[in-house]
Amino acid sequence: MLPTSIIAKKRDSKVLSSEEIQFIVQGIVDGSIPDYQIASWAMAVLCRGMNAQETAALTDCMLSSGSRLARASDRPRVDKHSTGGLGDKVSLILAPLLACFDVDVPMLSGRGLGITGGTLDKLESYPGYRCDLSEQGIQKQLTEIGCVITGTTDAVAPADKKLYLLRDVTATVPSIALITGSIMSKKLAASLDALVLDVKHGSGAFMQDKGDAQMLAASLVDTGQRMGMPTKAVLSDMNQPLGRMVGNACEANEAVQVLKGTGPEDVRRLTLTLCAELLCSVAVHENLTSAEEALTRQLDCGAAFEKYCKMVKAQGGQFSEELPLAALSVFAAREDGWIESIDGQSVGEAVIELGGGRKKLGDRIDHCVGLEMLVRIGDQVTRGQPLIRMFARTPTASEAARTKLESAIQISEHSVSPLPLFF
Ligand code: URA
Repeated sequence: MLPTSIIAKKRDSKVLSSEEIQFIVQGIVDGSIPDYQIASWAMAVLCRGMNAQETAALTDCMLSSGSRLARASDRPRVDKHSTGGLGDKVSLILAPLLACFDVDVPMLSGRGLGITGGTLDKLESYPGYRCDLSEQGIQKQLTEIGCVITGTTDAVAPADKKLYLLRDVTATVPSIALITGSIMSKKLAASLDALVLDVKHGSGAFMQDKGDAQMLAASLVDTGQRMGMPTKAVLSDMNQPLGRMVGNACEANEAVQVLKGTGPEDVRRLTLTLCAELLCSVAVHENLTSAEEALTRQLDCGAAFEKYCKMVKAQGGQFSEELPLAALSVFAAREDGWIESIDGQSVGEAVIELGGGRKKLGDRIDHCVGLEMLVRIGDQVTRGQPLIRMFARTPTASEAARTKLESAIQISEHSVSPLPLFF
């Protein structure tokens, strides 16, 4: 087979056979196809798309490029994947909360990407927290605690690691087929009995458009089902940050509040919804209402918080209920009115300017910086009212973030309705 014929076939909108897809994935893994041909193929896939069968074949080949995690126990294994956004600290709450039930949660997470924060970066706010557990380390922790949040091991979907790096620098990330193959190959490698997806859309999400988010959700669910892994999707709003905090340590602190039965209502609601879907998928509960009631009890009695502390300590982290944050300054409203929109891209870039995200690969993150959003879309505000608190390390970083925030919040002179969390 020739890479050029396969690229040309996709360029001309034809359907690729499983053998052709396997040839490309093999070439990615063993280096026999050069990066420029892989990038060209990825662009053809982005522009022409793949049908459900091709997408499942791609996922299968990427999964088979590595190995699957062995099962640690007979307990059902469940996990959640979010397509990412601002202030999304749900994983930190969901894994220990589910571990209070008779399920294992082997969560293989990632780092921040673009404006999207990464679960591993948030957990590394606890000094010493290790994200490089071996497969044996993962199994041991699942047996002892029931949940683990760590980075993917080298053995998991190596084709994705290489393809993802190339996609990141060739503008080929937002392809539904490539995103599906990337996410689902890693989740299938964790040998799950059920997966729930939180597909976000809005100004702070990958998918800005609701229709695109619906198509991505359908592709992920269809691929999961085809590959024998019960998969559900929830569509949630990312037109404003989830909860109040955006940044690493400040999000970990907010996750602790939710784990202790308080915290922002949207974070709590989204976490309960996703957890309830999973408990019903593996028949730990019969219906969503009883599952949510049981989950609420575990949050409110402190059991989920206790699991979280155990997990952080087992992975070497020095746990603290309230991690220290950098110095505070305030960003205030310039006029009276109602909050009409919050531009996620600008808010995310402000956090990066503060040092809470990476401008380039390998940049060090400052865990103590971030933002606290004091208003939500639909709130009425008056001139001079604080809209955002900034935790900044230096006046220069604070000024750079302030410049990004100038245009981030639009205030209308007419009243604006609050946005629903689910669609
Ligand atoms: N997250 C992934 O793991 N892969 C993608 O392609 C996009 C988001």
